[in-house]
Amino acid sequence: MRRIGKIMLKFKDKVVVVTGGASGIGLAICRRFGNDGAKIGILDMDAVGVKRRARELEAAGTDVLGIKCDVTIKEECDFAINEIINHFGGIDILVNNAGITQRDAFVNTRISVFRKVMEVNFFGSLYCTKASIASLIKRKGLIIVIESVAGVAPLLGRTGYCASKHALHGLFTSLRSEIRETGTHVMIVCPGFIKTNLQKRALGGDGKVTHHPQTIVGKQNTTKSVAEAIYKGAVRRKHILVLTAAGKAGYWISRIAPVLYERMMARKFRSELIR
Ligand code: NAD
Repeated sequence: MRRIGKIMLKFKDKVVVVTGGASGIGLAICRRFGNDGAKIGILDMDAVGVKRRARELEAAGTDVLGIKCDVTIKEECDFAINEIINHFGGIDILVNNAGITQRDAFVNTRISVFRKVMEVNFFGSLYCTKASIASLIKRKGLIIVIESVAGVAPLLGRTGYCASKHALHGLFTSLRSEIRETGTHVMIVCPGFIKTNLQKRALGGDGKVTHHPQTIVGKQNTTKSVAEAIYKGAVRRKHILVLTAAGKAGYWISRIAPVLYERMMARKFRSELIR
């Protein structure tokens, strides 16, 4: 921790790598930790976006390295993480954020869509974590996993997305218990509805981008408020962060009364499946 004037910089000179950092929640995380003096590695499949966002962060005074990386390709993840380790000397925080969603009834959703969502959301996080884990353990670092309330509760019309986020939950809570003694930690983040580009790229059952209206519960939060909560959670090395009022309500109801939650959630979202 360093002090600049009256401001405490908790992550000054720490190396923070954010997958999917060219847009939405990932970009806001890059900005928040960058403002705190952290060195930022941005990985994203959007080559133009990575360059543009790296330039923006640099102009704001952040030491940044942007690398085009499709997280579904293990070799690209290995290459990008190695480049960051060679450039900055190691990794203190890995944020597994890159993700896509899908929206359609299970019966209309092709197996290829389930596979695609799993490849990005689950295997992308697995590849980046595998490539970084030695450095993270050496530095007693932190893995932040951007899951969703769909990682801990059911969600009608998004069976593939929900499965991928549940898979992340199983992987990373188990990994946390495995690496606990090394001083390395995992923080799971479950946002509710946040205003980003995620829905503009949601896959329909046929694998094409869907424009079918989306149901939203409660108010959509901003990426800036999510990044601030993640920053504070990282300082306290929290185990789980559930964000937004609707997200918190969903999380607790699904735990205390899972059958009631399933009925309430299904009633709310069922209209999405009507075409
Ligand atoms: P976004 O679409 O604005 O950003 C996602 C980023 O991931 C984009 O920059 C995109 O290019 C990148 N990406 C997608 N596929 C990739 C790949 N194969 N390789 C590398 N990069 C890839 O969406 P967002 O809402 O900021 O999503 C970030 C994370 O937050 C996702 O994991 C999402 O599931 C999660 N989340 C979002 C919400 C929400 O309401 N927006 C709610 C809960 C959880």
